[in-house]
Amino acid sequence: MEKKQELYHGKAKSVYETDDSNHYIMLFRDDTSAFDGKIIKQLERKGRTNNRFNFFIMKKLEAAGIPVHVEELLSDTECLVKKLKMLPVECVVRNVAAGSICKRLGVEEGKDLNPPTFEFFYKDDSLHDPMVNDSHIISFGWGTQEQIDEMKALSFKINDVLKALFDEAGLILVDYKLEFGLYEGKLMLGDEFSPDGCRLWDKETRKKLDKDRFRQGLGEVIEGYEEVARRIGCPL
Ligand code: ADP
Ligand code: UDP
Repeated sequence: MEKKQELYHGKAKSVYETDDSNHYIMLFRDDTSAFDGKIIKQLERKGRTNNRFNFFIMKKLEAAGIPVHVEELLSDTECLVKKLKMLPVECVVRNVAAGSICKRLGVEEGKDLNPPTFEFFYKDDSLHDPMVNDSHIISFGWGTQEQIDEMKALSFKINDVLKALFDEAGLILVDYKLEFGLYEGKLMLGDEFSPDGCRLWDKETRKKLDKDRFRQGLGEVIEGYEEVARRIGCPL
């Protein structure tokens, strides 16, 4: 598959056209951003780690019946994906309170959320990805009621699969963000699932092994990602 021009240069990944009009190449860079891109740093091995991590998780999800965009691991940092028309919303599932929900609702970090919560955010860095509801999504034409229902159902099905996978590795899946898109009219999981877009804590010590190590200046960021990969049996 030939890599053509860069179509999109995001905060952490780049999307390239290919000689096949149905596919893109997604390149995972070492760039790491936090606070809507206000802080950007290069972290050695991050592109490679997240590319391999994402491929491993997406294949697990596919095996569990979730439609996913990944096709083939092309190199250490590149993955062939189906070209999706992305819906401009982020889907966040939370099993335990952390991050923005703690500030927004005055909840203490670490509180179990039973049943897990689901939130939509409108994907727009200049607006700091505001939280939106189903009605906003429909009125602004970002998605239909059917797509909303499907995104929620798939997000919770993914929770069942991944909570169990991480639990077996002695990890708590605290929360995560997903993005969906359309391929030939069918909703599919796009973007990535990696420690950049989720929170994972050690079950015993509650040590953070995700991007909060970067956000909170805790150090050993990629070492944390690598530990998670090793524990779930993901080859790096
Ligand atoms: P951001 O846009 O937040 O800076 P990234 O650096 O991760 O994020 O850039 C990747 C971009 O590619 C995101 O905007 C994401 O929505 C988009 N994307 C992910 N998967 C696909 C896909 N299969 N087809 C089209 N676009 C995709
Ligand atoms: N998240 C993400 N990208 C975003 C916003 C959130 O990957 O633009 C992930 C984040 O890593 C966490 C979950 O979504 O796992 C919930 O994030 P939260 O709303 O708590 O926001 P934060 O305070 O982390 O920015």
